[in-house]
Amino acid sequence: MINNTVIVLGGGPSGLMAACTAASLNKNVILIEKNKEIGKKLLITGGGRCNITNIANPDEMMKKTVTNGKFLYNALNSLNSQDLMEFIESKGVPLKVEEGGKVFPISNLARDVISLWETLLEHYKIQVIYGTTVKKIIVEDERIEGVELHNNKVIKGSSVIVATGGVSYPATGSTGDGYSLVEALGHHIVQPKPSLVPIAISEEWIKELMGISLEKVKITATTIKNKKISTEGPLIFTHFGLSGPTILEMSAYLNQYLIEKSVKLRIDLLPELSIENLEQFFLTAIKDSGNKIIRTTLNQLLPKNFIAKLLQVLNIDGELQMNQLTKKNRNLLQQTLKGMELTASGLRSIKEAIITSGGVSVKEINPKTMESKIIKGLYFCGEILDIDALTGGYNLQIAFSTGYLSGLNA
Ligand SMILES: Cc1cc2nc3c(=O)[nH]c(=O)nc-3n(C[C@H](O)[C@H](O)[C@H](O)COP(=O)(O)OP(=O)(O)OC[C@H]3O[C@@H](n4cnc5c(N)ncnc54)[C@H](O)[C@@H]3O)c2cc1C
Repeated sequence: MINNTVIVLGGGPSGLMAACTAASLNKNVILIEKNKEIGKKLLITGGGRCNITNIANPDEMMKKTVTNGKFLYNALNSLNSQDLMEFIESKGVPLKVEEGGKVFPISNLARDVISLWETLLEHYKIQVIYGTTVKKIIVEDERIEGVELHNNKVIKGSSVIVATGGVSYPATGSTGDGYSLVEALGHHIVQPKPSLVPIAISEEWIKELMGISLEKVKITATTIKNKKISTEGPLIFTHFGLSGPTILEMSAYLNQYLIEKSVKLRIDLLPELSIENLEQFFLTAIKDSGNKIIRTTLNQLLPKNFIAKLLQVLNIDGELQMNQLTKKNRNLLQQTLKGMELTASGLRSIKEAIITSGGVSVKEINPKTMESKIIKGLYFCGEILDIDALTGGYNLQIAFSTGYLSGLNA
């Protein structure tokens, strides 16, 4: 029996999939979860609605993976998003596809996804040890022997799957415990960094715009290596700087640079309008509706509250008529609307990050099995790996696919 025992550390999406897959192959599975319940982070995904995957195919998913996408080739092809959707629906949770190919339970309840896993754990008679952490993974002659719990109890097993997640949203239980457990066995950890996280801005005046959101902007960052990175989408101004989908995406590309240095951002507030068309808009407004006030005219371009604050910040009297707008101020407005310059001074804390970038180096893991190249019988899955993707359901698919592959092989 002992030789057939798989010990899974962590009851998040990756660990749950790994445990149930191994159990479906008649392995004796023991799942150890630090919390008193499974899937604490899963429960808050997608704002409580759980964006469980994306209809994108494996190739597209790898492109949406910012770090080490290619490593996922085998995992994403052994359980792709169609397979995952069929699996979830066959277990009684109907799904729907929303904008951008994002998949959610029809009920809009992440709780339903948790219940599905609870039922499966019972179905496979998986022993779950709650409220316990592992002190040590026991290895003899470079082979797994089992684990030692914090209460000194030893559990014997032939394989250990480490699915303890990253370090973001630590209140959910993901506190990076897995890193030290496997570092002690010779694995290397790529420095964990926040990803999919808001960005702090140095310019103090940005606070004036707090609470305002814009539907579509284009942001271009220039890194110290003169590399240009662009993202497009909704933007939110906050008390510390910027947030919203386009900024979260930008953070995934900038985190490696922002750890050490600030980065210049250029925000095109009107990406659908060329510079020439914007100039034409001003010239026509001055010519044809010169007695209309500046503020009302600009309200045609962007939300009222934004325009009012922008005029204030630029020190332009918005109550003047369009024909009183000086050429200097017109140019200033045009330049700002097409290229507002800001300085990204850093990322917000890992506590606010949707995902951790960095983690166990994938160079030391066999992508076909998820097994460690250093210790026989040691497997990895989910966010503990040095892999991170953009928002859209990709990160959960990665957790489920790597969980599946590790469970198949453990
Ligand atoms: C607010 C928020 C919203 C998100 N929304 C989405 C979304 O809609 N779609 C999407 O694709 N992704 C989303 N994500 C990302 C997604 O939740 C993660 O990628 C995913 O949960 C990773 O799964 P995991 O199993 O690897 O790790 P986790 O979900 O972090 O699970 C790890 C588990 O291991 C346990 N654990 C930790 N240490 C130990 C230990 N020493 N012993 C025993 N157990 C331990 C933890 O308690 C935890 O239960 C979101 C993340 C956040 C924070």
